[in-house]
Amino acid sequence: MRPEALFDYFADIERLPGIGKRNRQAIEKLAGTRTRDLLFHLPTGLIDRRYSPKVADAVAGSVATLRVEVVEHRPSHNRRAPYRVICRDETADLTLVFFNARADYLRKQLPEGEARLISGKVEHYQDNVQITHPDYMVAPENEADLPAVETIYPLTAGLSGKVLRKAIIAGLESVPSLPEWHDAALMNREGWPTMLQALETLHKPDGPGALAPSSKARRRLAADELLASQLALAIVRDRTRKKRGRALKGNGHIQERILGALTYSLTGDQKTALSEVIADLESARAMLRLMQGDVGSGKTVVALLAMAAAVEAGVQCALLAPTEILANQHLETITPLAEAAGLRIALLTGRSKGKARQAVLEPLAAGEIDILIGTHALIQGDVEFKDLGFAIIDEQHRFGVQQRLALAGKATAGVDVLGMTATPIPRTLTLTAYGDLDVSRIMEKPPGRLPVDTRVVALDRIADVASGIQRAVQAGARAYWVCPLVEESEQLDIAAAEERFASLKGMFGPRVGLVHGKMKGPEKDAVMAQFQKGEISVLVSTTVIEVGVNVPEATIMVIEHAERFGLAQLHQLRGRVGRGSGKSSCILLRTNEIGEVARARLKIMRESEDGFLIAEEDLRLRGGGEILGTRQSGLPEFKLVDFAEHADLIELARDDARLIINKDPELKGERGQALRHLLYLFERDEGVRLMQSG
Ligand code: ADP
Ligand code: MG
Repeated sequence: MRPEALFDYFADIERLPGIGKRNRQAIEKLAGTRTRDLLFHLPTGLIDRRYSPKVADAVAGSVATLRVEVVEHRPSHNRRAPYRVICRDETADLTLVFFNARADYLRKQLPEGEARLISGKVEHYQDNVQITHPDYMVAPENEADLPAVETIYPLTAGLSGKVLRKAIIAGLESVPSLPEWHDAALMNREGWPTMLQALETLHKPDGPGALAPSSKARRRLAADELLASQLALAIVRDRTRKKRGRALKGNGHIQERILGALTYSLTGDQKTALSEVIADLESARAMLRLMQGDVGSGKTVVALLAMAAAVEAGVQCALLAPTEILANQHLETITPLAEAAGLRIALLTGRSKGKARQAVLEPLAAGEIDILIGTHALIQGDVEFKDLGFAIIDEQHRFGVQQRLALAGKATAGVDVLGMTATPIPRTLTLTAYGDLDVSRIMEKPPGRLPVDTRVVALDRIADVASGIQRAVQAGARAYWVCPLVEESEQLDIAAAEERFASLKGMFGPRVGLVHGKMKGPEKDAVMAQFQKGEISVLVSTTVIEVGVNVPEATIMVIEHAERFGLAQLHQLRGRVGRGSGKSSCILLRTNEIGEVARARLKIMRESEDGFLIAEEDLRLRGGGEILGTRQSGLPEFKLVDFAEHADLIELARDDARLIINKDPELKGERGQALRHLLYLFERDEGVRLMQSG
């Protein structure tokens, strides 16, 4: 149960002043609809309105707050001319300029003869001092309505800074302070404020210094977010470690047959990874390992060999994949090798129904299937193994802790779990993403891969690109065409892809196909299969072409609006080509007007194919904020951490989390109780649930 002190933090923002249905929706897109979401929406800058000179002294271009008397309204004589209001102080006149003004409104706001505080950007125009559309016009008795230092927030259509600011300030007042979860010695050493004080400092700053990433308030909040995440990871790790492992020792006879059936030999990195995994299998401790390797680095074969070792030791294995496409692909890669080695394998997905499903479940329970490959369907309640001993979770970050536990729960006598991922994570972030896992990295590509020729092309040359592809297709090539992310709305993504599909159809006729996320499984697979067989030459898609999809004959990858993608994602998409023996190319179509950072990011793509390097550089260029297109990659998102600036806090949080779990593994003590608040507040409460479920 969520601690009571947090109820107000999770209360809906609709109770805050000024929040109606419309702007609630806008805020939802921006931050979320709970009060905590709003409080964690930090300002990115501020406007200092404390400069209040006499009118004659006001420096052009600066933001100033001027104390004046309203002298005279001069309505406009025609639509194009502005409405002017003349004001003055003892030194000079100040002209306020309004376009498309509503006279009645202005007359009410600025009655002639009365004093007003006017704040806005000062302009000098033909010897006049003027302010166009002042930000504030308040009566002296309402001076409190005029913020001396005004925060600037990231906004979205339909939401004004004023509304957001007001709601956030009210939100701050609506929540109680929470018990301190940080170590007292650390708090003293750093001189940190409480969390609530830190939020107040950032939302009501007294100057630009307060918002700097190095400020105490920013560091405190970053430390909160990092500790929540490290603690959740430490809890999972602790529970796994305490579980009994099984010493699974194979004799090598199945592995030998698989190796004999391979048409290539393993790379050095593959061999190392395999021996690390096998050492974990043989040890009586539970495995806690992640195999990280770029797309196409050959993880699947290592996974198969490790499973073979487990089967030799007499247990069954499961290979869990996040999507049907990936599960099918594992099946295809593995089947010929498994057959050669006499391994019995089966596939179970959401589409296995009725008799087909029974035909898997019965032999599985009887121990007549050695390796079960599947999707989420594999963790359902009625799926029973005779003796599950080893489970591999592909793209493991796409599964929640509960799902991982459910899979482990299918084992009667303990299970070793190996995670796999193709998402390259910068070294500095491995800890934040995975905690203290053992990691096997496959960096080396299988031999014989040709580099992919990557080019960045402006979108206005799209017609040239299309006709280039047409020529290549006539010569037998196959191409992917990925359509852009539109504002994180899947619906709009699909519309963009459909439009592109329609326009390319004019050119390619029946040789172009379309896949997107809303298509039904069989429909999607049918198109993929056509592309695989070469009945379709150009495959238009949203980003549904999953990590790991393998069509070695495809040699061209076009990515529209490449600047909108995370670099890790671009890297993974590009990894779809360059898999066969043909020379491949990747065309990054960029928008015509492009910023400096975006340009630099695309340059990295052009110059490197090293996923880890790309990830590091992306992090360096983008600093904090959304790393690696985290939203797409499924890695945890951080709102309050700036990874370039707060790197030292990552290890601090890791060490602290370890200490906490050693001292008080159930979070029962006083600090433990406070830490439960932290986990819930940052929605890492899976960790807490895990403790309760034992
Ligand atoms: P990943 O799962 O890491 O993306 P895969 O396991 O799907 O990569 O491997 C990609 C392709 O490379 C497969 O077709 C596989 O047969 C092939 N492959 C794997 N290891 C090697 C190797 N050592 N030498 C040559 N080809 C390999
Ligand atoms: Mg694979």
